Amino acid sequence: MLKVGITGGIGSGKTWVCRVFQHLGVPLFNADEEVKNLYQTDETLKGLLITEFGNSAYTPSGDFNKAFFREILVDSNKRESLNQIVHPLVFKRFEEWSSEQKSPYVIKEAAILFESGADKTVDKSIGVFAPLEIRMERVIARDNRTREEIQTIMNMQLSDDALKSKVDYTIINDNEHGVIDQVRALHQVLVNEARHF
Ligand code: ATP
Repeated sequence: MLKVGITGGIGSGKTWVCRVFQHLGVPLFNADEEVKNLYQTDETLKGLLITEFGNSAYTPSGDFNKAFFREILVDSNKRESLNQIVHPLVFKRFEEWSSEQKSPYVIKEAAILFESGADKTVDKSIGVFAPLEIRMERVIARDNRTREEIQTIMNMQLSDDALKSKVDYTIINDNEHGVIDQVRALHQVLVNEARHF
């Protein structure tokens, strides 16, 4: 089973691109959704986060405290600590899920594929790219976030140049290049590639 990671900066269109792969029948594992799910449901993880970050990690009603983490994760050391706690659990989930899939290859969508070390859990990687201003406009239209907040997230993520040097394949999602044709072509490449796995 070939495992393929898809990543890209905020608003680049990872989810959009993954939806096209899903239409072609490729199973999708959404690492970011899985993390959110674990924060809320995994009691062991909850205990680890409270030990590491204090009682504010969860609200009095027991929910993962998003606002608290949004504030502290601007600090790269804290991001690193959180990654070290949560990502091994997600990696394990991905392994279990992959072994249950019946297709030449599977995809894992992850906003921070390289930063989290998840690149080591996949065989090939795809980067989704779009100009910064288009990304900014998309996220403003999608989320209730200010330009400043979006810029802060962009600053924490790998630059396009850094990401381009790491991925095996690229998809340009800039409203000019056709995404469906790019995904179809890449799908053929990956189906062929999967024969070696
Ligand atoms: P995040 O890292 O925040 O999860 P993302 O990379 O997954 O972002 P998407 O959610 O796929 O990005 O795309 C951002 C927004 O732009 C969404 O509302 C999506 O519907 C829209 N969008 C993305 N690509 C296109 C496109 N090619 N044409 C039209 N709308 C698009």
